[in-house]
Amino acid sequence: MMKTQTGRIVRSLSGFYEVQTDCGSVTCRGRGNLRHQGESPLCGDRVLITREQGKGMIEKILPRRNRFIRPAVANMDALVVFASNVNPVTEPFLIDRVAAIAGDQGVPVHICVNKCDLDPAADLVKIYRNAGFPVIQASAVTGEGVEELRQLIAGKFTAFTGNTGVGKSSMLNALNPELCLATGEVSEKLGRGRHTTRHVELYALGGDTYVADTPGFASFDTEQMDVILKENLQYAFPDFAEHLGKCQFHDCSHRAEPGCAVRQAVEDGALERTRYDSYLRLYEKSSQIKLWEIK
Ligand code: GDP
Ligand code: ZN
Repeated sequence: MMKTQTGRIVRSLSGFYEVQTDCGSVTCRGRGNLRHQGESPLCGDRVLITREQGKGMIEKILPRRNRFIRPAVANMDALVVFASNVNPVTEPFLIDRVAAIAGDQGVPVHICVNKCDLDPAADLVKIYRNAGFPVIQASAVTGEGVEELRQLIAGKFTAFTGNTGVGKSSMLNALNPELCLATGEVSEKLGRGRHTTRHVELYALGGDTYVADTPGFASFDTEQMDVILKENLQYAFPDFAEHLGKCQFHDCSHRAEPGCAVRQAVEDGALERTRYDSYLRLYEKSSQIKLWEIK
């Protein structure tokens, strides 16, 4: 009988997968039947592999705890959403959308406000602290917040996300200078068509710490979004939790219904208005999705 091993996919490129096992990394292909089951392996997947004459084969994808379409990763322990208040200015909606996608999957979200050397982004920090998210104030240039981030991601599989130019690559370099990732001006990066690549890689930071650096979410709109059912959207906003179940109507959508406790909380300043506005925008989007479109 052939020996099977378990491992974890840390890189995928053109049908090849690098699988990290207890005894080193193995380059694998996916067994044809995986595709018949409608499964393509993702970075972060735990897999069963076999080896024959030095070649690895992924036989089975083990059940996923969570999965994302953009970025195409699975089994994330946490998501770090990068933001900045200068070149580029991050719109709260972009943060809220990706945070909701993670929230819907039960993945903890952390906010890293970068470029604090240029602008401390007081408004963003206030909004997300009030909303109950852990917020790190950081600068890849001065090193502020880098140790805090390092501790946060230690021993985990994390995805870094955030609009292009907020400093994700710079922060990865600050965490591990050996990575030598290219960083650059926002305009150059957009021009280079960085988002068209389907290559996903988890960077090893040592000690079982892996980070997926993912395409900026500036490009999300034109692409298929991870789907959240509109009925579930309210639960994807952790700051709504304490106000749920208190509305006049038990099936309140928190939009225009009378006696809505969520809207009242916004009026009272207990809920951040930008968070609520993002909820409304996402609710609109979710309403346009037909159930049969969900794979
Ligand atoms: P990414 O697209 O999110 O990976 O962003 P990059 O890491 O490529 O950074 C975009 C630009 O912002 C580069 O010119 C970086 O040198 C600069 N940058 C990144 N982080 C910081 C920071 O904390 N402070 C300052 N002043 N500039 C930064
Ligand atoms: Zn309501």
